[in-house]
Amino acid sequence: MTRNRYTRREATAFAALAGLGAWLAPAKLFAGIPQARKVSGSVPEIPSWPTELRRLAPNIYAYTQASGPGVDNASLSNAGVIAGPEGLLAIDTLGPPIHAKAFKAAAQAATGKTFGRVINTHHHRDHTNGNCFFTPVEIVSSEYTRQATIDDGIPAQPYDTRPEWQERMSELRLAPPTTTLRGGATYRYGEVVVEVIPNYPAHTFGDLMVYLPQQKILFAGDVAFYYVTPAGHNAQITKWIDAIDRINRMDVELIVPGHGPIGTKKELAETRAYLDLIVEETRKRYAMGMSPGRAAADIPLGRFAGWTNPERTAWNTVRLYAEFAGTLKPQQDLAAQNAAVAEYLAIRGSR
Ligand SMILES: [Zn+2]
Repeated sequence: MTRNRYTRREATAFAALAGLGAWLAPAKLFAGIPQARKVSGSVPEIPSWPTELRRLAPNIYAYTQASGPGVDNASLSNAGVIAGPEGLLAIDTLGPPIHAKAFKAAAQAATGKTFGRVINTHHHRDHTNGNCFFTPVEIVSSEYTRQATIDDGIPAQPYDTRPEWQERMSELRLAPPTTTLRGGATYRYGEVVVEVIPNYPAHTFGDLMVYLPQQKILFAGDVAFYYVTPAGHNAQITKWIDAIDRINRMDVELIVPGHGPIGTKKELAETRAYLDLIVEETRKRYAMGMSPGRAAADIPLGRFAGWTNPERTAWNTVRLYAEFAGTLKPQQDLAAQNAAVAEYLAIRGSR
């Protein structure tokens, strides 16, 4: 049995406090110490992790949002900051206003500078809704990400299942990327070389990563989910595994995932192992004619069963069924995914 560092209630309280900017740990130099707070004596060890702006190297910061076992991680994504002589680069802007504003305020307080550019790793709204609080700036993404951001728009009632996140929600405005890349790009923030690298299709059909070759740091976006069930609702899951293998061939020592604590290739191997498992197990159940929701409930997840948001496996089986049938589109099949999650929950709830 896994013992948690925080109770669910405590972790939720941390998340709420962090949203208000009230619990920001002082930025500190990364010294090769894993961020996750693991509890010894239990296998598998699933950590909880804090909301904090963490200094990884001079002028380089990661911003994580607290979560862990039993805490709904949806929309609790991570971001990054690079500081240069003329201003700051944001790597994603988070979703709800209270999260975006807390991140922006923490970065500006730590550096004494203001933001001049944003890179969106992909279009999902927990990574792009906050764009409007950083404008007017250049916002950079892949071409697919820009169009998908526009197509998704701002929902009528954003994050309505999270009443504690509603503060200043009416201020949300669509702020799609202004600059689109067909390939990669290299920016220089003072001495820091910032490489933007396309890595799609993977979690979406437009994922970009941000790589700092001198520091061997990678902001992987949602190609990396650590201790959180990968959300493949826009993914091409077999290609996502290839995207992870491309990272494994890179000279990277530290990885900031889109969701989860700061880690390394060791945790990335677990993201890959989860995806590999569901590809193989879903393939068998597809061949048997099982429905995707039932397949998701039927797959033994082993050490991944304790990851946050396990119902996402039903999104992932829907995507894999479409891949196997040759009908996969970049867009989400919301009706099929909702039906699969409902079936998954009905089966799991009856056990
Ligand atoms: Zn995403």
